Amino acid sequence: MNAPELPHRFPPVELAAAGTVALETVLTTDAPVPDSTASPTVLFVDQSGQLGGAELSLLPLAARCAARSEVLLLSDGPFRARLEALGVRVRVTSNAKVAAIKREALRLNWLRAVPGILAQVRTIATQAKQFDVLFLNTQKALVLGALGKPLHRRPVIWHVRDIMSRDHFGQVQLRIVRWLVRHAVDLVVANSRASADALTALTGLAADAVPVVHNGIDASAFAQTDASDIHALRRRLGLPEDAWLAGLFGRLAPWKGQHIAIEALAKLPGAHLVLVGAALFGEDAYAQQLHRQAEELGVADRVHFAGFRDDMPAWMKAMDVILHTSTEPEPFGRVIIEGMAAGRPVVAAAAGGVLEIVRHRENGWLVQPGDVAGLVNAIETLRDTPALAQQLAEQAYADVQLHFSLDSYLQQMSRTIARMAP
Ligand code: UDP
Repeated sequence: MNAPELPHRFPPVELAAAGTVALETVLTTDAPVPDSTASPTVLFVDQSGQLGGAELSLLPLAARCAARSEVLLLSDGPFRARLEALGVRVRVTSNAKVAAIKREALRLNWLRAVPGILAQVRTIATQAKQFDVLFLNTQKALVLGALGKPLHRRPVIWHVRDIMSRDHFGQVQLRIVRWLVRHAVDLVVANSRASADALTALTGLAADAVPVVHNGIDASAFAQTDASDIHALRRRLGLPEDAWLAGLFGRLAPWKGQHIAIEALAKLPGAHLVLVGAALFGEDAYAQQLHRQAEELGVADRVHFAGFRDDMPAWMKAMDVILHTSTEPEPFGRVIIEGMAAGRPVVAAAAGGVLEIVRHRENGWLVQPGDVAGLVNAIETLRDTPALAQQLAEQAYADVQLHFSLDSYLQQMSRTIARMAP
């Protein structure tokens, strides 16, 4: 057994008194959900036009608030059309130099982007003045939106979806975030306890000052996909009909650990690996490296690069097992709850927010991040004992409906926003 003994945590909705406002009632489950006419107007800001986890979780929230809100994107992309299709008003204000600032390389080169930064700070502030609340959904949105606080003077909510530590970010970036959170943000909402803990350690905020709202998904969308004829489903998706399929979902990026899954596959004769996702944020060199790795290990015919796909329920249900292989602590991991909703057994890397979702051998299987032998062992065990795989998948399906529903996520977020209204 390679998997470690891990704490079995299933945190209830976490209550908090946070930031500059009292929030005791924000997340209590019996507090009334604000009706839409009484709800504050909200300007949501997101730095990306791509469909990453942050954007996909904002999508239903922005749709719910569509009548009284708007989304400002700092970069154009397919996210815009997805929002508009749900009736959300969207504006785009992009600046190439600001967009080029990367989290891994926040060095002096950002100085060249200063004029663009100032212009975007002003644009966001001008927009924000027309709304009651400013909701910043990503880190670049945090910087640009919070810096403009003296101009817009609106309550600022930041949804932290990262583990703000030295493992993930540079010193300069952490200092900027710490200063902004202390001086220009009224409330931080975290997507997991792991994200919240890292932020409180960084900023010195009280441990209970950052409420946690886990992502939620619509499990019924998964129930609607018929996978009773698995051959037909795989045929439709262009996948091998009879192979034993392990699926890994997510953008191609070194820390998402697709290379770990390819390495494991080389030790699993007969199994196939399906990589669903694309290099969304300029990780093309890594994508090429994965192709080379598969060639060099002689498994290229068993690794299927599917690219970015919209139809998660179908792709997930076509798999025998769903893998999550992040080598760094995952802030939350939507793909894990989606795999659970798809009714497939999930093997996940035991770090960060994942430990708030998966309980080892109860509703999934945990492996240490980067542990190839552990991953191989997990996959072999689930392949050789279908009854166990089925049992884990059934428990996971029940858990996701109970703990990670879209309704509960929307209600908690709506209450949080409503309490911040002036
Ligand atoms: N995703 C998708 N199509 C793909 C690959 C991923 O729609 O081809 C979605 C996936 O279903 C999930 C999100 O992208 O909802 C990724 O979220 P996660 O929290 O796992 O990772 P993040 O991108 O936030 O790091």
